[in-house]
Amino acid sequence: MTSLAQEQQNKNTGSEGSRQYAERYSRQILFRGIGEAGQQKLAKAHVAIVGCGATGSALAGLLARAGVGTLRIIDRDYVEPSNLQRQSLFDEADAAESLPKAIAAARKIASFNSHIVVEPKVEDLVPANIQLLLEGMDLILDGTDNFETRYLINDYAVERSRPWIYSAAVGSYAVTLNVFPGETACLACIFPDSPRGMVETCETSGILNSAVNLVASVAATEALKFLVAGPDTARLRRTLLSFDLWTNEHAEISASKPRPGCRACGESDLIHLAGEGRPHITLCGRNSVQIHERQRPIDFAEMDRRLQPHGVVRHNDFVLKFWRDPYEMTLFPDGRAIIKGTTDTALARSLYARFIGS
Ligand SMILES: [Zn+2]
Repeated sequence: MTSLAQEQQNKNTGSEGSRQYAERYSRQILFRGIGEAGQQKLAKAHVAIVGCGATGSALAGLLARAGVGTLRIIDRDYVEPSNLQRQSLFDEADAAESLPKAIAAARKIASFNSHIVVEPKVEDLVPANIQLLLEGMDLILDGTDNFETRYLINDYAVERSRPWIYSAAVGSYAVTLNVFPGETACLACIFPDSPRGMVETCETSGILNSAVNLVASVAATEALKFLVAGPDTARLRRTLLSFDLWTNEHAEISASKPRPGCRACGESDLIHLAGEGRPHITLCGRNSVQIHERQRPIDFAEMDRRLQPHGVVRHNDFVLKFWRDPYEMTLFPDGRAIIKGTTDTALARSLYARFIGS
């Protein structure tokens, strides 16, 4: 059959969709490490991205364009103007609307790849919901900005033998580690406690968008290798890799074996997953406090009316914003709130009780 006839028959049999699919991913299918079979594996893959700030945005953007079939994007925060310097999935309109990052990310991805499934989850990943949020995922990627959540992911991954990839960037420094529980070192093998150097945050040390994109590129590529070739491929890196783009220093230390006596993967002492004594009020950077002790749905229209006499209030389907000088309160439909303008948790709690309810 001539190729023209073939094309006609393809159209007749409704394979126009598969032709478009092959065209969209043609440059990736041409790449030897992936090929057609690899592309099909990507289309069937389920990947969770925890945290959709700078690193999470870059990871989600790369994997969505690469054709990973299902991306579950979990984030507790909303878009602000200071995010736009490095958080590549968001734009000025998202910041003006204070859209939750997970929602804004899903919308942006739909505009450049409407063929994949994106599941936005506007939630704070905590021990109580981690199983629900990460269930059914082939791979978990770290787009968080704090060690508390990373240790929680690590405990979950160890308990369920799920692979995950740690990624972090601050200043001009970036670091990443693939974790295959039971086979390689886990996060607690390498960092039994939060590493001191990483206590620096974007708020205190600033961050270069290029450091973010570099660590996301490395982690996203490791993710592709894993999804295409499985955990046993020799191509997967089994080291902790770090680099400083400003000083041009880089380092790699072996992480190919678990550390004997490791709390998490050695002794199964999963304290972060148990979540004992975990506070319901947490500092979340940017001179702000998060309150997530009250899990109950909030009617935004009614709350909007109630708050009108007390300050400036505005809401859309996803967030309600309430300004009362010098505080700015962002309320989510499940009752969670981020209160900006203080780091005093007692004050934040009393503001919440006074205006939202106790
Ligand atoms: Zn370990």
